Amino acid sequence: MSREYSGFARLIYRAGARKGECYEMVASKFLERMTGHEHRAFRFDRAILAIGATEYHGDHLPYGTDTIIAHQLVKEVARRIDGLLVLPPIPYGMSLHYAKFPIAIALTSETLTKILKDVFASLLKHGIRKLLIINGHDGNIAPIEVAAREFKVEHPEMRLCALEAWWNTAKELLPKGVFEVWEGLGHAGEGETSIMLATDPELVSMKHAKGAVLNLPSHVQIKWTFEELTPYGATGDPSKATKEKGEKMMKALINHLTSFIKEMDKRDWKYGLIDD
Ligand SMILES: [Zn+2]
Repeated sequence: MSREYSGFARLIYRAGARKGECYEMVASKFLERMTGHEHRAFRFDRAILAIGATEYHGDHLPYGTDTIIAHQLVKEVARRIDGLLVLPPIPYGMSLHYAKFPIAIALTSETLTKILKDVFASLLKHGIRKLLIINGHDGNIAPIEVAAREFKVEHPEMRLCALEAWWNTAKELLPKGVFEVWEGLGHAGEGETSIMLATDPELVSMKHAKGAVLNLPSHVQIKWTFEELTPYGATGDPSKATKEKGEKMMKALINHLTSFIKEMDKRDWKYGLIDD
């Protein structure tokens, strides 16, 4: 966590408490930095959670890239939305298809699905029925889908939302022409490397940025293992990454997520035919 955020929530809370301001003005809060007293005072009913991975990201990005990016989005959104409980990120993902490249700490889909369901159940037990998940890794998409769908059927009162693939969303939100190769896609590719240059440049080694640009048929998914696609542990063209592209991606995603939460708040997280 960057210095900017350390103690952020608590300082605001204490400043607010001292001046007798109402707690609704208190900014979003980080559960791992919070005391029980603070938690009781605030009574959260909605939360945000990053899910990442710990796996090889080429020779130019850190192993925690997926977690770092997802949690960075969470932190930026939480700065803009009051009263959002920020959960500690899940640092491991379903990385079995990347695990030939050293090193990956890989959960099976089954394990991750169970972890997610346990997280949902814990939140629900403590009155938090609204959750936004920010995913940073392709292998987590299916476990999030299974866990959320099954939990929702068992607990209809829960509101579960997910940004499942920020890389696709960023590409859709930005105007054409921002990216130079493969619309910025790729594991440790142009887009992902650009975000890391924008958020944690000291962790990026651009002199080692190398990826394989793929030429796969479209619309039907091939279920590859990563070593079938690239000898570099990276796909797309990370050498085209820039801080400016990363800033544009982050801004578009943060704005989108912030308005999503505001819109959901306005309708009390109701949608469709829900009227409870
Ligand atoms: Zn990644």
